[in-house]
Amino acid sequence: HERGSLADPNVMQSRLNALIDLMKAETLDGSRVIDNPVYRDRLMAIQGRVQALRCNDLRLLSAAVNRQSAPLAGMVVKLQGTELRHELEGFAVDVMGELGLLYGDTPRLRGGGSWQRDYMYFLGLIIGGGTSQIQKNIIAERGLDMPREPKLARA
Ligand SMILES: Cc1cc2nc3c(=O)[nH]c(=O)nc-3n(C[C@H](O)[C@H](O)[C@H](O)COP(=O)(O)OP(=O)(O)OC[C@H]3O[C@@H](n4cnc5c(N)ncnc54)[C@H](O)[C@@H]3O)c2cc1C
Repeated sequence: HERGSLADPNVMQSRLNALIDLMKAETLDGSRVIDNPVYRDRLMAIQGRVQALRCNDLRLLSAAVNRQSAPLAGMVVKLQGTELRHELEGFAVDVMGELGLLYGDTPRLRGGGSWQRDYMYFLGLIIGGGTSQIQKNIIAERGLDMPREPKLARA
């Protein structure tokens, strides 16, 4: 339950929308960041993963409504959600250029400093609640039925 709650798809979508607004507002060499092909490419990759996460959540919702279980769909939420959010917030920091390095009380801060703050916050959530490496072990062993990792023999 805790892991599932760490990656709300609606919050993810609203952060994506805010990121797109930020890219329209910020400039790079005199042009809007949103018009830069390299930055657009990174945005598309993130947008695709946000859509995939939303579809996965709809799969979980359908399973719950139909009283079915979708264990694998549930297992990927924490891993994908926290890593994607960290990447999205970090991309916004890049979009702001040198302003992305600002932190604290300064008039040039964008979005009240939420991009920088959430970038660090989601780095913590990649660890808290079980690290990404442990999530991958769980997905491999319990979701995909792969062999368990070797354990050290007790002394
Ligand atoms: C922001 C935050 C909030 C937290 N909140 C809570 C809380 O409310 N309650 C609570 O009890 N705890 C909380 N924690 C602790 C958290 O659950 C642990 O930090 C987390 O489970 C990782 O355990 P560890 O720190 O002992 O790392 P370790 O288990 O020592 O892992 C160290 C590194 O080794 C890797 N690793 C370890 N074992 C394996 C393996 N078998 N295969 C592959 N890689 C492996 C890990 O992925 C990690 O990168 C929180 C942590 C953070 C960062």
